Amino acid sequence: MRGLMQHAPLLISDLIRHAARHHPRAEIVAKLPGRIHRQSYRETEHRAKQLAQALTRLGVAFGDRVATLGWNSHRHVELYFAISGMGAVVNTINPRLAHDDIGYIAGHAEDRVIFAELDFAPIIQAIAPNLADTLNMVVFLCDAAELPALDLPSSVTVLAYETLIAAETGAYDWPSFDENTASALCYTSGTTGKPKGVLYSHRSTVLQAMAVNAADSCGLRAVDRVMPVVPMFHVNAWSLPYAAAACGASMVLPGRFLDGASLYELIEAEHVTVSAGVPTVWLGVLENLRKTGGKFTSLYRLLIGGSACPEALFEAYGALGVEIRHAWGMSESSPVASMAAPVPGDDGPSAHRHRLSQGRVLFGIDIRIMREGAEAEWDGATAGDFELRGHWVATGYYRMPPSVNAEGWFPTGDVGMIDPVGFVQLTDRSKDLIKSGGEWISSIDLENIAVAHPAVVEAAVIAAKHPKWDERPLLIVALRPGATATRDDLLGIYAGKVAKWAVPDDVVIVDELPHGATGKLLKTALRAKFADHLLGSKAAE
Ligand code: AMP
Repeated sequence: MRGLMQHAPLLISDLIRHAARHHPRAEIVAKLPGRIHRQSYRETEHRAKQLAQALTRLGVAFGDRVATLGWNSHRHVELYFAISGMGAVVNTINPRLAHDDIGYIAGHAEDRVIFAELDFAPIIQAIAPNLADTLNMVVFLCDAAELPALDLPSSVTVLAYETLIAAETGAYDWPSFDENTASALCYTSGTTGKPKGVLYSHRSTVLQAMAVNAADSCGLRAVDRVMPVVPMFHVNAWSLPYAAAACGASMVLPGRFLDGASLYELIEAEHVTVSAGVPTVWLGVLENLRKTGGKFTSLYRLLIGGSACPEALFEAYGALGVEIRHAWGMSESSPVASMAAPVPGDDGPSAHRHRLSQGRVLFGIDIRIMREGAEAEWDGATAGDFELRGHWVATGYYRMPPSVNAEGWFPTGDVGMIDPVGFVQLTDRSKDLIKSGGEWISSIDLENIAVAHPAVVEAAVIAAKHPKWDERPLLIVALRPGATATRDDLLGIYAGKVAKWAVPDDVVIVDELPHGATGKLLKTALRAKFADHLLGSKAAE
């Protein structure tokens, strides 16, 4: 017997429609160069509808991919809701990637239109000539008077965002369609080779937004003013724009102003109550507060994830009256998989340990530890590979074979244990990547460049601990017999081949690199020996 309840697809347009209709007092605040912009959810929905009308007029069809190269701003929020709401797919591209990777992503996604901040005009100039087959239009997030002069292929039209939407009435009805329709496409760094696209659906996004709003998760409320510092080009800003719309929280968007002083000023000026970002961001804010002696008057919670949150941050923010909630997840899990919130009996030492851990999985997600082909115990001591399964976990990557096994478990590339109460503790990463200030660096790419140096016989790049960036790449090389090379020679080969921030911080020259039984480089041994190499060193300053 079927239940007698109504059914409607879970669509992203429901979120903005709800916020516009039921939360008239909430505001979207955006920090722009020289001014603060404010608008309501009602205005946001109206402008998103104007944008959807404009894109329809320009021929963007259901399922087409539309890219963004944007800071966190009211316009980026409008793009999220308009593009997904009309049934197209918003491809958020990380502007910090190398131009080659950005061009690769826009080509692989076959983006028809790219919306870009004025700051990213040089990126457009570099990539557009190679995208002439698929790219029809570039829209700069500005007024007509601010449009930059670029030399682009004649097939690519350049427009200003405000002109584009001003031509429309906003009389647009959000279409209804299958909730499993793709809504957003976000590329993540691969261990080897090119970035891989994670393709979210309307259903996965709405379910995650609802889960994120649970009290033991981000716990957003209508009276909150949430500031996502995590960029909207990193896994949908951890779903906060969707979650804020679902509960009617106001949003404060810091734009390109991400240094500690600017963030603190915005938190205070706009009475931000909850914020979210990687540890590096909060270290920057703390450093500024230590210089100025500033205090928080409204902020009560920080959601920290993307890298392990150092204990010192919990203590420093706790002393300032701010609770840290530590979260774990990845692009492939939309991203929030687990969050650290207290459980009954958490009043002794376990409370401290649990708070620092990566937390327990949210309802909607399940986790297991795999060790030598079997599921390991949750005894807090047996480490293995984490696998995830759930409503907002990917099955695979866009235009690639599936990644999940027959039972739907997704291998995360993260290693650790789970205690008997269900708290996840990450200890290592099996994916060969380094995470520096929230951005990925492929160690294999750096090794391949190093071995092209005539003096190098073998190279390994490991994640060395860093006080500010959490991890930085450290190059370890063995030289050919009789060959010589200096630190500067070896680092010099990266110029122009990778983004500046991906160049290793230092080089260690060894006689020989360690190998396992199958001849593979033993990176665990190198990590054990050199992980602290940058701590207290000149390079770390
Ligand atoms: P991304 O796909 O860029 O969001 O990166 C996801 C990866 O970042 C995870 O697979 C982990 O390796 C790492 N990560 C995310 N959150 C945490 C955390 N709280 N502690 C340690 N590592 C984390």
